[in-house]
Amino acid sequence: MLILGGTTEARHLAEALAEDLAEGTATPETRRTLVTTSLAGRVTHPTLPPGASRIGGFGGPEGLADWLRSHAVDAVVDATHPFAERMSFNAAAACAATGTPLLALRRPAWTPAPGDDWHHVPTLAAAAAALPALGRRAFLTTGRTGLAAFAHLDATWFLVRSVDAPTAPLPRQTEVLLDRGPFSLEGERALIREHRIDVLVTKASGGSATAPKLTAAREAGIPVLVVDRPPVPQGVPVAESARAAATWVRARTRDA
Ligand code: NAP
Repeated sequence: MLILGGTTEARHLAEALAEDLAEGTATPETRRTLVTTSLAGRVTHPTLPPGASRIGGFGGPEGLADWLRSHAVDAVVDATHPFAERMSFNAAAACAATGTPLLALRRPAWTPAPGDDWHHVPTLAAAAAALPALGRRAFLTTGRTGLAAFAHLDATWFLVRSVDAPTAPLPRQTEVLLDRGPFSLEGERALIREHRIDVLVTKASGGSATAPKLTAAREAGIPVLVVDRPPVPQGVPVAESARAAATWVRARTRDA
């Protein structure tokens, strides 16, 4: 069983399956290898889930297909971040090529509440194009890898929050805040107040760990630029919780 990870939900799924194995007949040796979580290796000190883990790319869809064959994988759960589009595409291609069942685990998207002023855009580039009309001091929470899209906005001041330090190109006026969620409402309120933020930029990631910034933005009466999610590859079924994904896995691996 392979979990493509990098999210809280992926870790929760690995934990649920580890509990199954602890209750079942697997020996300590086999237990370690029955569920493998794969991480891309983007974060310097990742939180490793229970079970086996591997770190680094597979080498495209063909590399992943080889890995599925050589490890006799019975089922794959793509529990990558909703914006890890390439990995999701590779997983769909590799599973189709090898006949391996595939499920996408995607946390539900956020929905606006009364008082929210959300502006939806399809890409980071579109967010950068829309930003100057909405504010001059932006809280940018879209991750360090997409910062190049904003690098030309010389008149905007940015508070950039990321897990690891971003690399160039960065916007000219940038303050970097290194931090990892979950974030508290109190903390998000303070950031918006202390840095006089007048616009928030976020991906439509969903989940509770990073949702308090949306409440804080609503309270502060500032607009939010929401970069919408790319679609899940066609034909891939979706589960919205680790619990639902665990049920799907159990149905596919019970007799394996
Ligand atoms: P991506 O653009 O979809 O993937 C780029 C390449 O990275 C893939 O082609 C693959 O290399 C490798 N890769 C991605 N996820 C992998 C995984 N779980 N295990 C092994 N290789 C993986 O992905 P990304 O947006 O850079 O995200 C990378 C990781 O960070 C993902 O695991 C994702 O869950 C996590 N993450 C992403 C975001 C985000 O906003 N994008 C936010 C939080 C966490 P090969 O082609 O060589 O196999």
